[in-house]
Amino acid sequence: MNYIVITGGVLSGLGKGITASSIGMLLKACGYKVTAIKIDPYLNCDAGTMNPFQHGEVFVLEDGTEVDLDLGNYERFLNENLTKHHNITTGKVYKSVIEKERRGEYLGATVQIIPHVTNEIRRNIKMAAETSEAEIAIVELGGTVGDIESMPFLEAVRQLHIEVGHENLIFIHTTLVPVIGVVGEQKTKPTQHSVKALREIGILPDMMVCRADDYLEDKIKEKISLFCDVPKEAVLSAPNARTIYEVPLILEKQGITSYILNKLNLKYTKTIQKRQQKNLKNWKEFVNNILYPEKEVTVAIVGKYTDLKDSYICVVEAVIHAGAALKTKVNIKWVDSEKFEKNPNLSVFEDIHGLIVPGGFGKRGTEGKIRTIQYVRENNIPFIGLCLGFQLAVVEYARNAIGLKDANSTEFDPDTEHKVIGILPELYNIDDLGGTMRLGAQEVLIKEGSLAHRIYGKTVIYERHRHRYEVNPKLIDLLESKDLKFTGRTRDGLRMEILEIPTHRYFIASQFHPEFKSRPNAPAPMFYHLVKNALKYKKEKKK
Ligand code: GLN
Repeated sequence: MNYIVITGGVLSGLGKGITASSIGMLLKACGYKVTAIKIDPYLNCDAGTMNPFQHGEVFVLEDGTEVDLDLGNYERFLNENLTKHHNITTGKVYKSVIEKERRGEYLGATVQIIPHVTNEIRRNIKMAAETSEAEIAIVELGGTVGDIESMPFLEAVRQLHIEVGHENLIFIHTTLVPVIGVVGEQKTKPTQHSVKALREIGILPDMMVCRADDYLEDKIKEKISLFCDVPKEAVLSAPNARTIYEVPLILEKQGITSYILNKLNLKYTKTIQKRQQKNLKNWKEFVNNILYPEKEVTVAIVGKYTDLKDSYICVVEAVIHAGAALKTKVNIKWVDSEKFEKNPNLSVFEDIHGLIVPGGFGKRGTEGKIRTIQYVRENNIPFIGLCLGFQLAVVEYARNAIGLKDANSTEFDPDTEHKVIGILPELYNIDDLGGTMRLGAQEVLIKEGSLAHRIYGKTVIYERHRHRYEVNPKLIDLLESKDLKFTGRTRDGLRMEILEIPTHRYFIASQFHPEFKSRPNAPAPMFYHLVKNALKYKKEKKK
């Protein structure tokens, strides 16, 4: 097993996750089996209970684990499905150490951070790497060197370095090189200090990836090389990219694959290089389609977390994947559902060609979302609803098409007479909020001849879920008594998974989150067809 440990210096938000994903993608393109592990030094056991305003979207894996959004980037760049082992948090590590202590597994020893916690961290890293049968495991350490929280993890990877040997583990340090003052000089001091902090812990970086607005000047590379004790060819620039998907190509131009494989004593023969180039061809095409689109449409996303765009990262990425596949630039128009609720100014929709109502929790802004769904339904504008968006499409239809004026979800109005959305029966008596929703990949059966069937091209699909509420199974006949139809259900037929309105040009919503499985060159079908229908609608609107 070979490890590439990625640490971060100076400040957070430098794109460490994208660097890790890019390296993984480049090595996989060579034919190596690669996996990625994210360490999050917070006390939460998983990301499931975290507010999207603070940490961005919660990503859901195939096995139902709720994880940091970086794992979404890994899956998209590596085109691999990861598991619960691939996100290690302080909470998870301490929970397991304390449980072992309670069971008496430490045989009377004083349980300490070193060695017990660090051993547990090492065990977790190795387990994740080994269970995925990878040859190369990329380990991204969240946070910034110098944080109290990340200390035990840095110590653990230092120990792992000794354990597996320096030819099997390398450190890549990502930092910031800011430009200050009128002279516009690239400044290396913050980078020097963060490497100094790393060395105090006993870690010497093998490579530096430096974020800056531009490429590093030659003399700046020399300076970093000298002060940080890495060869000049191992000081890489990570300038601003036009799209995150361009980052692997930017790093590869600077010879990152060759340097890493050489350090790890892994082969990079002519044949492997050719294979990598061949595999990168599709990726380059995908990037070119993003950078040089031929068409353009505007799609609105209505949500309450619109101030932090990372809250909807998978939705945005899925839109990008769909747009690229159609050589179309998709402008996203963010609509704040709470503001819209207070002031439903419909003119915001004048220039849109499609609308997305994504997932969410809690009552705030839901009436605004319902109003937007009514607008696109009545005006025949392409629409997709995701999870909460699906539930609210049911509420809107029940109110305005079926005539159940007070229809609602019991999440927002527990006493309403028409409970069209209610809590899942298996969750009736569960009070814990962590990891208790209906989660992960679940089977969905699709009705033959439906729109869902046409866009998926299959009658059995597996999509990822994260919800606590569902369509009330007792009201299906009533809800289907007009145009709306439920064309995706669970095998027992009781749980509604997809709805559509066949008389509408494109109106489809799902209880699951198709965005979690959207990948470059393999966009999620609901998104692909949203953009396709948006293009059609735009053309017709012009006439
Ligand atoms: N709040 C809704 C539920 O729990 C929708 C969840 C979501 O959109 N992820 O069912």
